[in-house]
Amino acid sequence: MIPYAPEPLSNFGDEAVAKAFQSALDEVSRQAGLEVPLVIGGKRVNTTRHIRSLNPSNRNETVGLASQADELLAGAAVDAAEKAYVHWSRETPESRADLLLKAAALLKRRKHEFSAWLVLEAGKSRVEADADTAEAIDFMEYYARQVGKLSARASSELFGASGEINRLTYLPLGVGVIVSPWNFPLAILAGMTTAAIAVGNTVVVKPSSQTPIIAYKFVELLEDAGIPAGVVNYMPGSGEEIGDYLVQHPRVRFISFTGSKDVGLHISELAAKVSPGQKWIKRYVAEMGGKDGIIVNHDADLDLAAAGIVSSAFGYSGQKCSACSRAIVHKDVYDQVLDKCVKLTQKLKIGDVRDAANFTGPVIDERSQRKIIQYLEIAKQEGNVLTGGSAISADGFFIEPTIVADVQPDARLMQEEIFGPVLAFAKAENWDEALRIANQTEFGLTGSIYAKSRAAIEQAKAQFHVGNLYINRKCTGATVGVHPFGGFNMSGTDSKAGGPDYLMLFTQLKLVSELL
Ligand code: GLU
Repeated sequence: MIPYAPEPLSNFGDEAVAKAFQSALDEVSRQAGLEVPLVIGGKRVNTTRHIRSLNPSNRNETVGLASQADELLAGAAVDAAEKAYVHWSRETPESRADLLLKAAALLKRRKHEFSAWLVLEAGKSRVEADADTAEAIDFMEYYARQVGKLSARASSELFGASGEINRLTYLPLGVGVIVSPWNFPLAILAGMTTAAIAVGNTVVVKPSSQTPIIAYKFVELLEDAGIPAGVVNYMPGSGEEIGDYLVQHPRVRFISFTGSKDVGLHISELAAKVSPGQKWIKRYVAEMGGKDGIIVNHDADLDLAAAGIVSSAFGYSGQKCSACSRAIVHKDVYDQVLDKCVKLTQKLKIGDVRDAANFTGPVIDERSQRKIIQYLEIAKQEGNVLTGGSAISADGFFIEPTIVADVQPDARLMQEEIFGPVLAFAKAENWDEALRIANQTEFGLTGSIYAKSRAAIEQAKAQFHVGNLYINRKCTGATVGVHPFGGFNMSGTDSKAGGPDYLMLFTQLKLVSELL
């Protein structure tokens, strides 16, 4: 196989690219309002109840209606996945890898179309949407290559006594449930799903109720690539109704989840309980929240730092678990960095992301907007709001990018994940204190430092306790195969998606030792 290389991002400055994207957006807008069925064992099932997926830029526009599963149908999906497992688990690693490569190739051809759905359904700007689609391609290209490496690694590493043959094989686990998020509704869905199936598992996918349409499009793409019926079953529905049911199902062997801390912990608790008839301890892979910090030292390149902070805090309106929500700045340069960040932020245009000029799009839905508005109130008590601070009254769910200065490290704004465009600034006396503040959180996902001093950099490398630490660059935008992604503590199980060990999480190892 030719070596892996990340998919290049589209250059929308090129007129031909911008035009091609616009025509994909026009075409997808014409399709909006479509109804999508459940997919169980390759069969389409239409239900009478639907999840209405809205355009966050304009709540009056329906992106699509997804059939909504109940327990009975979710149970049928587990049966279908179990049936498909018999054959899929015995496929050669090469043929499973080839399927992923085929799906990646199809997605490359239809890149703008998928990104256009992301603009409509997730409220992503075209640049953010393009990165999401590129990352989905990367996950499939990368995992396709990792499948072969896993088997090669297994058989070559055992040294037995003479007169013995010892072989280790990586077996799939069984039927899994994939609970995917709305903030990377294509990339993370594709990554979680294809990693699990690449090593021979079969799955039931429960997409986020905010973004079921893009998830359906992805399942269709896998079918176009030739995936056998039942290997991936598509099951939108509410968490309480079918999410809990699927997690507790005795014939589900593993759960792969990306989403909030609260839901992640709830699933962890349910998954730990053994249901009647269950024969195993369920495997749980979780990617949860973040309260990510960027620290700036007195010797840093302040323009670079300000640009990194603003981009990490306000890209996709701060709705990334990797987003910077805390800037911790050395007292000598605090005012300067703050001032630069405020100026950059005030230049960001807000509005419907179908207009390419808008950098800041909507937040995902009304509930999220309401929650962020509550934090904007808290912000007024806990610090000085220097820019932003309000929701915008419009048909979409817009919130102004907000910077709050002089916040105490233990304030709610510095501790709780807001998942919106709200950035708190705290002042540090020195580098030791800056690192202490940065670590003063229950999360541990990403973090950045901006510094020139080698000693400060080395200290941060040793002491800043996050899964993904970046130096003199922003804390969002991990690239598959380059920056394996996942965090410590309440950020999840440190699964390192897009890394060399990720596929192992969906396997169990069997040793066979033969005396000759
Ligand atoms: N992997 C993404 C990044 O590095 C974040 C994923 C997430 O928000 O769940 O920015």
